[in-house]
This record gives sequence, C-alpha cells and structure tokens, in this order.
Amino acid sequence: MREFDYVIIGAGSAGCVLAERLSASGRHQVLLLEAGPSDRRFWVQVPIGYGVLFQERAVNWMYSSEPEPQLDGRVIYHPRGKVLGGSSSINALVYHRGQGGDYDDWAAAGNDGWSYDDVAAEFASLELPPDGDPAAPHLTISDCSDDYHSIGRDFVDICRQGQLPVADTPLYEGVGVTPYLTTTRNGLRCSSARAFLRPAMKRPNLHVLTGAEVRRIGFDGRRAVSVRYRRRGIDSEVRAGAEVILAAGAVGSPQILQLSGVGDARHLQSIGIRVVHDSPRVGQHLQDHFGINYIFRANRPTLNDVFGNWPGRLRAMLRYVVSRRGPMALSVNQFGGLVKTSDSLARPDMQIYLNPVSYQALYKGRRVLMKPDNFSGFIIGFNSCRPKSEGSVVITSPRVADAPSIRPNYLSHPDDRAEALAMARLVERLTATPALRGLLAGDPLTPLASMDDEAVLADFRQRGGTVFHLCGTCRMGPDAGTSVVDSRLRVHGMDGLRVCDAAAFPNITSANTNAPTMMLARRAAGMILEDVAG
Ligand SMILES: Cc1cc2nc3c(=O)[nH]c(=O)nc-3n(C[C@H](O)[C@H](O)[C@H](O)COP(=O)(O)OP(=O)(O)OC[C@H]3O[C@@H](n4cnc5c(N)ncnc54)[C@H](O)[C@@H]3O)c2cc1C
Repeated sequence: MREFDYVIIGAGSAGCVLAERLSASGRHQVLLLEAGPSDRRFWVQVPIGYGVLFQERAVNWMYSSEPEPQLDGRVIYHPRGKVLGGSSSINALVYHRGQGGDYDDWAAAGNDGWSYDDVAAEFASLELPPDGDPAAPHLTISDCSDDYHSIGRDFVDICRQGQLPVADTPLYEGVGVTPYLTTTRNGLRCSSARAFLRPAMKRPNLHVLTGAEVRRIGFDGRRAVSVRYRRRGIDSEVRAGAEVILAAGAVGSPQILQLSGVGDARHLQSIGIRVVHDSPRVGQHLQDHFGINYIFRANRPTLNDVFGNWPGRLRAMLRYVVSRRGPMALSVNQFGGLVKTSDSLARPDMQIYLNPVSYQALYKGRRVLMKPDNFSGFIIGFNSCRPKSEGSVVITSPRVADAPSIRPNYLSHPDDRAEALAMARLVERLTATPALRGLLAGDPLTPLASMDDEAVLADFRQRGGTVFHLCGTCRMGPDAGTSVVDSRLRVHGMDGLRVCDAAAFPNITSANTNAPTMMLARRAAGMILEDVAG
C-alpha cells in the first residue's frame, strides 16, 4: 500500500488550498483525492458557464433535499461541485468575507484563534500574491464594475432612495450595497483549483487523483491511518503516515465520516455500519442561506435581452472571444451587499442582490441562464445573514453511491420567518422608490404592497430556494457533546483526522461562503504544519 504523509479527501474550495499549503515546503508527500474530473472544461473556465453547470451531472453531485416541512413539502435542489475546484468551479463567483462579527462569534463560542483579528490576515493572504509575486499561488479578486450592466446606476439610486447604505467601491467585508467583487482572472473563473492547485501540481511531492471516489477511512484503534477509494472501477487503499484530512464539503465530509463508522452509534448500527467512534453531532447543525427573488419587468434592456436571443448571445460570445470581456466574463450577481432591515439592529441581517437578469421558468426542466425570461427583466433578491434553522446530512445506507438524506429544515426557526417578512417589507420599500418605479414596464410580478404577512410568507414557502451555502455539518466547538471538531479542526476523540472545509463552520457567515471556506482551509493548513513541527 502506498504511503503519503497527508491524504486530503476532496479537491474543492478548501482541498485545493490545503494541498497547496501542505506541499509548499516540499518536505511532505501529499495525496489529493477528488471524485470528479479535471476542471479543464470550457464552461468551468467561462464565468457565465455557472448557468450551464448548474445541472451538469459530469461536474455536479446534483443532490435533492428531503421534502421540506416548512416549504409545503417541496424538495429543494442542491447543486455541489464534483470537479477539481469543487463548488468554487461551479459557483456564482461572488467574493465576500461576510462581517468581522461572524468570526468574533466563532471565537466567542469557544473557538480560540478564530476571531476576526485572528483570521483577517488569512483572508489577506488569499487575496494578495505572497511577497507581491504574481506567479505565486493566489486568488484573483476582480472589480469588474466598469463592465457591469448600466442598470446598476438605477440600482444605486433605488438603494439610496430606500435609505440603504451604498458604498462607492466594492467591499470585501461589512455593510453596504456595492458592485460585487468576483473570483475571476482575465475574464476566466478563478476557482480554488486555478488559484492554488494548478500552480502546486507542478511539485513532485503533490499527487492529485481525479475520478477517485473515497469510500471510507481506515482506523487503527482511534487513529486514522488509511483511505479506501474507487477509481475506474478498481478499489485501492493508501496509507496516511501523518493525517487524513476531510475536505469533501458540507455533504461529503459528514457522509464519509459516517460511512467510516464515526457518527451517531445507534443510527450507524441500524444500517449495518461498524461503529469506530460514537460522535452524535456528525451531520447535524446543517445551515444554509435561504432566499427568494422578486422579478420586475424593466422598461429598458437588461441581460435578458442579451442572453434571451441568438443575436444577443452571438454578440456576447464574439466580444468574449475577442476581448475576454462583456457579460460572459461576469457573474449575474452584479450588485448587492449586507444591509439592516431596521436601524435599531446592531448588525446587518440581510444580504441583498440586485441582478440585471431574470429567470423564473425552467427550460426543459433546467434553469439555464442562456434562457432568461422572454421580457426585459431584473431581480431584487435576498436571504437572511445568519438564519437559525438547522438541519442534517445523514447517510441511509452503507453504500457511498447512495446520496445522503439532506434535511435543511428551512424556516423551522420562528426568527427566520420573522426575518423573511422584514426583508420582504424592505423590498416593498424599495419598490416604492421613484428610481424603481421609473424602471418598471408593468406592475411587479409579486405585488408585495397588497399582500398581508401571511401571503408574503406563503409566497416565500412556495418560491424560496437555497443560496447554495450549506455548512456546519461537522461543526467546530470546544465540547464533543455539541460539536465534531475542536478549534484546530481535529475530530474530537480521534487521532490523525481533521475536517477542514465548510462543514467545520461553527456558525454560518453573513454572506457568500467560498471566501470563508478558503480562509478556514488556509488557517487549518497552518495549524497542521505547526503540529507536525511540534
Ligand atoms: C451553485 C452554487 C453557487 C454558489 N455561489 C457562490 C458565490 O457566488 N460565492 C460564494 O462565496 N459561494 C458560493 N457558493 C458556495 C461556495 O462555493 C461553497 O460554500 C464552497 O465552495 C464550499 O467549499 P468546500 O471546500 O467546503 O466544498 P466543495 O467546494 O463543494 O468541495 C468538496 C469536494 O469534495 C469532493 N468530494 C465529495 N465527496 C467525495 C468523495 N467521496 N470522494 C472524493 N471526493 C469527494 C467533491 O467532488 C468536491 O470537489 C455557491 C455554491 C454553489 C453550489
């Protein structure tokens, strides 16, 4: 059996950062196992490909939730990246750290070393080339606002007239509506794979296997010592001399732990899995941002007029091929940020999106950005920053091929329902502004002003959806009774085993989760290297 020092499971946002950091010194042999294929695909590289990859089975796990009790029993679709770069290769490219207070909350919950003061430098290290060397592995965060749709000027007026704070320059963190920053470089997606893994793959001590689906971790007593995976129909096993590091994401990491016998003992026994360690919180505390889009007909062209017809698509394609610019080089989430629904709040409670495109219908059962609504339209959407509803990711069989049962339990906490109403009423306020009224070509598709609270909530239950920020299923915390990993990301009660991805979030952050996940992985890598150095 081949031996490596570190075996990392999952080459997603976190896994690529970990692989780069742990292999950088050249002293450690690192193996990165990824179930999906290479990211060298046209629609992974082109930013607007987000809309195509949304339901592309070759690079997407395409999970579905169980019927959601608070959403009239609806099943919610959950895309997750299955490709080098993981979800950072299929996501909507928005870069936002959240609020400093998110991390202070992590530290206040007993996770030493995770306050914003502690993690701000990690974010900065992701965002800037080390020592100013542009060839060193780093993420590129782009301000593409010059190329954003001209309707953005109206969006700014709408927010100003609606008394929302508007910032002049794009924000990495904190309060205010601005053009969103994106993870793009020279008109191409800058996933975690492109930023960190690709440059590191040249190192002889980093080994990357694609198409390698991990089935379980092997243990010697309580120590993780090996990893079994299937590739091209053949089962293989590798030894981990130092550590096994789970970075398979908020669904994959708890799934693999449970398949390996680490989880709720009674449940594991009931489905025929030999228990290695009773850790009842594995797969619990699932969190996500849940949001809704309100669609408006515009009296001027929007991106619907670009992507909704062949001449528009061809013009955009031509511009992209010639200059790597234009709508194909951008995210559809162009404007937004963190705001408060009430001045009395100490911190923002709402993330808002103002998108110059609208899509409500599915095209042949798929939501394809190249098929937006057949009128000029735009969206104002939102989700609450720190929802309190929690759910679970639990395996239902000993087979890795059977997707785990995903129950987000959206809106199960009464505070989340109250926040949904407050956010909808804020959108109603924006709808009444002269700037928004001056943009409309007809009544808003959802007449919030004439809907009572019950109707607003009923609409939220019927049309709301995930913002794709699953996290927290191997939660970090000081107490093994309420969490899965400690503040150094080590699985409580086990040796040689860490979870270093979005699953380890102690609490969901206020904005998009790609940046916090990469930050967590970078910090985790520092801890792993400190621990091996003794
Ligand atoms: C459609 C979509 C849009 C999003 N938009 C944004 C956005 O605009 N901005 C933002 O900040 N965030 C966004 N997110 C969220 C963000 O991308 C994720 O929070 C982040 O990528 C999670 O990183 P991770 O490393 O925890 O997991 P992932 O990046 O999902 O990586 C997990 C990796 O593990 C692999 N894996 C899983 N199981 C196994 C196994 N058994 N064997 C081997 N490999 C395995 C997976 O294939 C995957 O590559 C979006 C997510 C999605 C899905």
